[in-house]
Amino acid sequence: MGFALTTEQFDAFLAGLARDYDIYAPKRLAGKGAFSGTDLIAYAPVQSLAEIVFDRKTFYSPKEILLPISQTLFYFTEEAYREPQQQQRPVIIFLRPCDVHAVKRLDQIYLHNGDQADPYYRERREKVKFFVMECTEGFDSCFCVSMGTNRTGEYAVFLRLEADRVLCDARPEFTPALAAYGREAPFTPAFIEQNKISVKTPEKIAPAVYGHPLWSEYDSRCIACGRCNVCCPTCTCFTMQDIFYEDNPRCGERRRVWAGCMIDGFTDLAGGHSFRNKYGERMRFKALHKVYDFKKRFGDHMCVGCGRCDDVCPEYISFSRIINRLAEVSDDE
Ligand code: SF4
Ligand code: SF4
Repeated sequence: MGFALTTEQFDAFLAGLARDYDIYAPKRLAGKGAFSGTDLIAYAPVQSLAEIVFDRKTFYSPKEILLPISQTLFYFTEEAYREPQQQQRPVIIFLRPCDVHAVKRLDQIYLHNGDQADPYYRERREKVKFFVMECTEGFDSCFCVSMGTNRTGEYAVFLRLEADRVLCDARPEFTPALAAYGREAPFTPAFIEQNKISVKTPEKIAPAVYGHPLWSEYDSRCIACGRCNVCCPTCTCFTMQDIFYEDNPRCGERRRVWAGCMIDGFTDLAGGHSFRNKYGERMRFKALHKVYDFKKRFGDHMCVGCGRCDDVCPEYISFSRIINRLAEVSDDE
């Protein structure tokens, strides 16, 4: 059902929701950018429409709300262990269609990848509602249309920001609240139909792809900083860390902490062994995982075409270009 709210009415709607939900949205964090004097657009709690950034893409994705960068799984002593009590309130996340698809990729890994769902992820995920921000222009590095992630129907509320009002399409759960603050108005969500960048994903991978010289270019261009991993809404890898307390080393906690396939140490094994030491080999692994292996196993590509990895790479390495090169090489074989 459609509604129209003035910006003041929408702020009142948000204030009402804040009684029951923590609300996260893209926000400008002053002075937090990578370079001095620059701002960072990232997910943070918001209380008003004016705080929500609609005209920029976030550097980090909403993934960190569902999957904290560092999460304590349990505390331990010599005799016992105890899981932390989860006290998180229900959460509303303002996000774009591609990021809704990205959360579905996280669901695939953490909820549907085997017999057991991950209880830590499930607990957070069950409390999340999506407020989708209409996205009809996209940004320079986006390729969501090629990846089929430009549209979504999975939202509690879909909203379009206009000059002095907000148009919303709401599922029944939120229609009473919207009706209390705004008025009914016809509204059909729109989606982006064309990006500046398009990619072609490979249908099959020829054996020659594995040793192809295209990857060696990244041995020297990539610096293994891992920015492309941490900004990616669909990277799901973590490592385990046991922390022993200084004042009582017999007690501690086990944490899982984000890890990434481009970062040194990711493949270290007992005995000093390590795989994919060359950065080009890591790039090959990441590319095949994002646009081949995952689809083969689960039916959708892991990459949702958000373009964040292109935006953040300090070496200007373009992942969309890599996908196209991979497809060219595969099709030539
Ligand atoms: S475009 Fe890059 S950051 Fe975005 S989902 Fe694909 S691999 Fe991840
Ligand atoms: S962000 Fe760029 S330089 Fe850093 S690991 Fe990724 S591809 Fe390599």
